[in-house]
Amino acid sequence: MFEPVLTRNIHRPDSEKISVYLAHGGYQAARKALTLAPEEIIEMVKRSGLRGRGGAGFPAGVKWGFMPRDADVQKIVAVNTDEGEPGTFKDREIVESDPHQVIEGVIIAAYAVGASRAYVYIRGEFFLGVKRWIKAIADAYEHGYLGENILGSGLNLDMSVHRGAGAYICGEETAMLESLEGKRGNPRLKPPYPAQTGLFGLPTLVHNIETLTCIPNIIERGSAWFAGIGTEESKGPKIFSVSGHVKHPGNYELPLGIPLREIIYEHAGGIRGGQKLKAIIPGGTSTPMLTADQIDVPMAFETLKQVGSELGTGAIIVMDESTCMVEAARRLSKFFAHESCGRCTPCRIGSQRIFEILDRMEHGKGKTGDIDLILELVQGIDGQTFCPMGAMLVNPPRSAIQRFREEFEYHITHKCCLVDAMDG
Ligand code: SF4
Repeated sequence: MFEPVLTRNIHRPDSEKISVYLAHGGYQAARKALTLAPEEIIEMVKRSGLRGRGGAGFPAGVKWGFMPRDADVQKIVAVNTDEGEPGTFKDREIVESDPHQVIEGVIIAAYAVGASRAYVYIRGEFFLGVKRWIKAIADAYEHGYLGENILGSGLNLDMSVHRGAGAYICGEETAMLESLEGKRGNPRLKPPYPAQTGLFGLPTLVHNIETLTCIPNIIERGSAWFAGIGTEESKGPKIFSVSGHVKHPGNYELPLGIPLREIIYEHAGGIRGGQKLKAIIPGGTSTPMLTADQIDVPMAFETLKQVGSELGTGAIIVMDESTCMVEAARRLSKFFAHESCGRCTPCRIGSQRIFEILDRMEHGKGKTGDIDLILELVQGIDGQTFCPMGAMLVNPPRSAIQRFREEFEYHITHKCCLVDAMDG
């Protein structure tokens, strides 16, 4: 029987308060970690198989190992609470309901990599999250979990909150660092990676909220426990944000590797209104769409790759048979065209052109050759941009055309929607 751990506190009354967190065993993992050698903690995280939950899925322990061991250099932990990927709302819920679990993860990570400063970057629109972060950090200072000589261990750690201004690209780690430095949130060229040259040029460990939430649980229950959940290449529990045409949208903490069908039909209650399933975005809007017959895929990094998609942030967007795929692709493309930071031409111009073509197609003005034109633009963007956004923004239109091409052709030929026509 799978027992949720990352979300175990969030439904308790006043779960955001330090008193509630402490009453349920909070900060015990940090106490334990501070008695271990930093190298031992890094080894534990490596053995657990934890991979980043922000989308890229990079092994967390390996990332920690990249941080320099030189004691003279100040090191930083940067906490990414930007969470701008449409469909993804798990980190927001954790920060609003259980911020101390994240702080505990930060303390352990800072101790392991020798960091003395932690910065929280939070999306500007998350008003409640900002409030909860500020209060939680103040309470952690008051109780001796932040500040000087934490729990008598010799660890000094200061932490503060920085509000962003709602740019999707600031969820990309180097753009986030630029924004934290007070500059325009443009991505940086990599390498150098943040572990070498990060915030203010200092070695910086960047993690998202869910990843940090895993850390106290690994320390408390052990690497073997964590590695015992999931699949060969995707270990541990995962919070799946389920939205769209399901009866019960929400966040569900489940083991990695669980079949997509089980999440949609058993946990999210199935498709609302007795409709049939049509398409699924399995990992946030930047991941390729799947069709209803791919619903038995296990939700893991490697298995989603095998079916031509990605785990991404684990944000599952469900679309029923009433969905027009041209309109779905149009809306998603509009989002990416709006959020392009504008630094490189293929992304800045290409995303806008894709949106314009889909927009005219949706409004009955599509032209012969428009589908090929979109695919040509996709080819000119994918792999040709400064940051991963280019490769991400092409996924919605490309996968929608690959899997539902007849709907795009119908829009061009008949100047109206196939789904509406079928409805009668
Ligand atoms: Fe900016 Fe897009 Fe280029 Fe990334 S790919 S740097 S978001 S313009």
